[in-house]
Amino acid sequence: MSISRRNFLGALTAGAGTVAGADKLLAAENFDGYPDRYGMLTDLSRCVGCRTCEAACNKQNKLPAPDVPFNDLSVLETKRRTTAKAYTVVNKYATENGKPVFRKIQCNHCNEPACVSACFVMALKKTKEGPVVYDASLCVGCRYCIVSCPFYIPAYEYDEPLTPRVMKCTMCYDKIMGEGGAPACAEACPMEAITFGKRSDLLKIAKKRIMDNPDKYIDHVYGEFEVGGTSWMYLSPVPFDQVDMSTDYARTPYPKYTKGALASVPVIVMLWPVLLGGIYYMSNRRRQIAEEERRNAVSTAIAETTTDVQARADKAQAVALKKAQKKAERDQKRAIQAAVKEALEKAADTGDEKGGE
Ligand code: SF4
Ligand code: SF4
Ligand code: SF4
Repeated sequence: MSISRRNFLGALTAGAGTVAGADKLLAAENFDGYPDRYGMLTDLSRCVGCRTCEAACNKQNKLPAPDVPFNDLSVLETKRRTTAKAYTVVNKYATENGKPVFRKIQCNHCNEPACVSACFVMALKKTKEGPVVYDASLCVGCRYCIVSCPFYIPAYEYDEPLTPRVMKCTMCYDKIMGEGGAPACAEACPMEAITFGKRSDLLKIAKKRIMDNPDKYIDHVYGEFEVGGTSWMYLSPVPFDQVDMSTDYARTPYPKYTKGALASVPVIVMLWPVLLGGIYYMSNRRRQIAEEERRNAVSTAIAETTTDVQARADKAQAVALKKAQKKAERDQKRAIQAAVKEALEKAADTGDEKGGE
């Protein structure tokens, strides 16, 4: 009997009771305690859509070559999303004043991330330094983080058969914590459209730019409050909805919306790792079976092909042999005929000589 994931969850929730501590677990996702956390500020008025940041990110994260080379700007005409091969993409937007505006998209490193809240094996984590990072060794492949992200950012390695991962921008966490400096995209941007620093400093910089250039910017720092605030923020010369940035987000962090619903079925919280482990095992097993079937099919095909080739070779050999035999017979016949002819001619010559005597 097969059981769908939806049915599986439904069966579990039917018998759910209240488990003390579930509320505490959810309440722990309060990130107000990291006042020194880092952030990024993208100034859309400076971005020229050169894709240098995309190339730098690709190199820094050792991602596969892009489908369209980074020096080909025709891709800007298409509205792209981040993928497992591209942690960041730049899109071009036609605006009401007629001037195009370019926007770099990547994980916004929310202050209280929905993806972190959705991941009950804690493979995603909001670090105290600001970046939201991912630990593939803990991930069970449920992809709830992908569904939960309000910005549609995390992508899944569907092409990776054995160990697929959730892929997204890390704010170059390893780099900034290791060798130091700014994330690769910020360092590479020739227009200084991306600024890295303490989030609190970036907010001051952003507000000063608006104050000094009121005609140049919309009077709003995107990400200061959206979905409870994000570490990656934006300044724009046009209203944010003209560059496809939702202006409907409330100030409430997304995890707060799910808190009540999850607290009413806290047994899921407690059983989540087991449950996801089960789902992971089942999907992994399915993948293994599929892989075994594929291998068997390939071996059979190779064996059949080998037999086929051998049969064809045998047939060709037999035809060649027959041909050679026929030729040998022909040659032999010709040789006999020639010998007979020669003997007859010799006999005729001998007769003539005797007659002449
Ligand atoms: S490198 Fe800078 S200017 Fe070029 S596309 Fe990226 S953000 Fe825009
Ligand atoms: S933007 Fe999405 S993936 Fe990034 S931290 Fe926020 S919820 Fe998570
Ligand atoms: S911060 Fe790092 S991982 Fe994120 S888009 Fe920039 S280069 Fe890529």
